[in-house]
Amino acid sequence: MEIFHIGAECYPVAKVGGLADVIGALPKYQSSTENQVRVVIPCYQTVFRLENDFECVHWGKLKLGNFNFPFSVLKEISNKLGFELYLVEIPELFDRPNIYNYRDDIERFLSFQIATLDWITGRSSIPDIIHCHDHHTALIPFMNKYCPKYEKLREIPTLITIHNGLYQGIFSFNKLYYLPEFDLIHVKELEWGNCINSLAAAIKCADEVTTVSPSYLNEINNSNNGLETLFQQFRHKSRGILNGIDIDVWDSNKDPMIENNYSIETIADGKQKNKEYLCSLFNLDASKPLFCFIGRLYYEKGADLLPEVVLSALTTYKEEINILILGHGDVELENQLSHLLSEFSGNYNVYIGYNEELAHKTYAGSDFILIPSRVEPCGLNQMYAMRYGTIPIVRRTGGLKDTVVDFEDNGNGICHDNASVEDICDSIQRAIDLYKNKEIIDQIRIKGMNTNHSWETVSQEYIELYNLIITKRYES
Ligand code: ADP
Repeated sequence: MEIFHIGAECYPVAKVGGLADVIGALPKYQSSTENQVRVVIPCYQTVFRLENDFECVHWGKLKLGNFNFPFSVLKEISNKLGFELYLVEIPELFDRPNIYNYRDDIERFLSFQIATLDWITGRSSIPDIIHCHDHHTALIPFMNKYCPKYEKLREIPTLITIHNGLYQGIFSFNKLYYLPEFDLIHVKELEWGNCINSLAAAIKCADEVTTVSPSYLNEINNSNNGLETLFQQFRHKSRGILNGIDIDVWDSNKDPMIENNYSIETIADGKQKNKEYLCSLFNLDASKPLFCFIGRLYYEKGADLLPEVVLSALTTYKEEINILILGHGDVELENQLSHLLSEFSGNYNVYIGYNEELAHKTYAGSDFILIPSRVEPCGLNQMYAMRYGTIPIVRRTGGLKDTVVDFEDNGNGICHDNASVEDICDSIQRAIDLYKNKEIIDQIRIKGMNTNHSWETVSQEYIELYNLIITKRYES
């Protein structure tokens, strides 16, 4: 089977969050003698692009309404990621340092989708399945189905995976002319809330819709920024498949980014050594339990609660705990977290920015990780943390609910129900008590490390789904 994954990020090429981790790992686990897996993302100005060798396999000119953009498709030569990686280079739109948050993001990602389909249409062979990820690629199922230009691809089933339904790629009908020509009888397939809504179009047009956890699928049927009734309508072709993790990259026993490698047998000593190193970097006391947060500093992540949590927890338990925060995002929140430094120096520190290596060191060196998300489609942090023997403290929502069970229910973490300072601090109190009981804390750590969240099994679930939708297409 020839599988195309199309998305905006792919680790280690270009990463903002979990989307990159999934597109960098799932294809690797799907690749086999039977399955040729190709990944297509835009070509950003990233270190990976500069440090690796590529060959140009296609060049052309894409049409976005009245604009024409030259583009080329670059293939990474050595297949070092375990699959074929293609970068769509549109210099005017993507030759920039950041992945998102440009004024012309709609034009950028629509151009990327058009260039990708132009290229795939012109290839000698056509794929068996096109797997799109999130709203940046969510107009592909519509274009495949209705644009005569892509007639050749019409029979190829498409799948959309929703990694984050909050972002939907919404734009005005004034920009309808950007899309390649199609019969206007189909225009309603693009519409939601009187706008063009890319994600809604994919939910309507793709053969199958997946979310990255079963609980998130249930949640978005009840609340997802206005798309609820659409999700309900297409529930029959939707399913939640829990993300996996790349156990080669996230392995405390051989991770080159951490100071001391350790296994289940050596966790107590190994974690303490990593903690000592991390604490030395951030002026913290390694004899106390270390709570960390790693993630984007946004409301959906519950990060707005962190300043008050730090204030409240460190006022109450100042002599007992350390808190370390690694993240970036909302500037106001970044400032609030930085301001707390002077008050709690020695017990608290914050690193504002994105730092992959430091994230690994923090998973390895922390005792507990705070994941207070309001919305969490899957969440990879808790899975990485558990793999490093770090106990997750989570709000029961989305994928967190599907992967973390409270230790009092014989589980692998600490859970609370509300996205509130009170609930988080209550969990911190329980964690402090737990930390004093070495025997039980070791059991929970080991339970987490033994949990198998590898893509090995999950990736097969996707293959079965591809086969199912291919068969359905043949039957119809
Ligand atoms: P989301 O995709 O919503 O951001 P996930 O939990 O699915 O959340 O994935 C987050 C990924 O991004 C994890 O690999 C996490 O380690 C990483 N990450 C988040 N923020 C940072 C940061 N500031 N520095 C390094 N890695 C980060």
